[in-house]
Amino acid sequence: MAQNQALTAFAQKIAEKTPLSREAQNAFETIDRSLFIPSGLERLTYSLDALPIGAGQWISSPLTVAKMTSLLRVESADSVLEIGCGSGYQAAILSKLVRRVFTVERIERLLREARTRFKALDLHNINTRFGDGSDGWPQYAPFDRVLISCSIGGEVPKGLLDQLAIGGILVAPVGGVIRRFTKRSLGFREEDIEERAFVPLLSGTAPN
Ligand code: SAH
Repeated sequence: MAQNQALTAFAQKIAEKTPLSREAQNAFETIDRSLFIPSGLERLTYSLDALPIGAGQWISSPLTVAKMTSLLRVESADSVLEIGCGSGYQAAILSKLVRRVFTVERIERLLREARTRFKALDLHNINTRFGDGSDGWPQYAPFDRVLISCSIGGEVPKGLLDQLAIGGILVAPVGGVIRRFTKRSLGFREEDIEERAFVPLLSGTAPN
């Protein structure tokens, strides 16, 4: 199968399992997942599984990326913060749907590789930062959307909730359950969506 046919079939397979907007389905068709897959695992490029990317980390299952993306309910003018860039696949999908993406990663090597992929794909609206994502990225706050791509044991760090714009949405796996927070002028609306497995959020940056 030609590569673009494989990508179209892949995006369709995802959309059958996780309802997606037309724009989101297009993003899955446009961003070539093969660039995000470590060598040796090429045959699994269009599988729906999470795959190891080194440094003990994983590229999320495309179904998880689809689910998190649709829960965020992004709009094209949005500025989105992601915590846990990993391979960069989720950030790349978001970059096709919103104006600007900011993504933070605590493992430098993974971030370097993700940056190379963003360049190769000509994605110029993604800003990356090496650091502890628990602090968010105050210089660019407030964000219309915040996506936490690693699981949180206890509470969502307060700094991240503070960096969300009023009316903004934050999606995070908290204690094994995907939770969506919508910021109101006073407080938050909180919804529990479903259980799903994620890589944990750790503090500080990883040693080289
Ligand atoms: N979004 C990724 C999936 C990443 S898995 C993708 O599409 O491939 C979760 C990532 O969160 C891992 O790379 C892990 O290193 C990172 N992470 C964990 N704790 C973090 C923290 N405090 N700050 C930034 N990144 C963190």
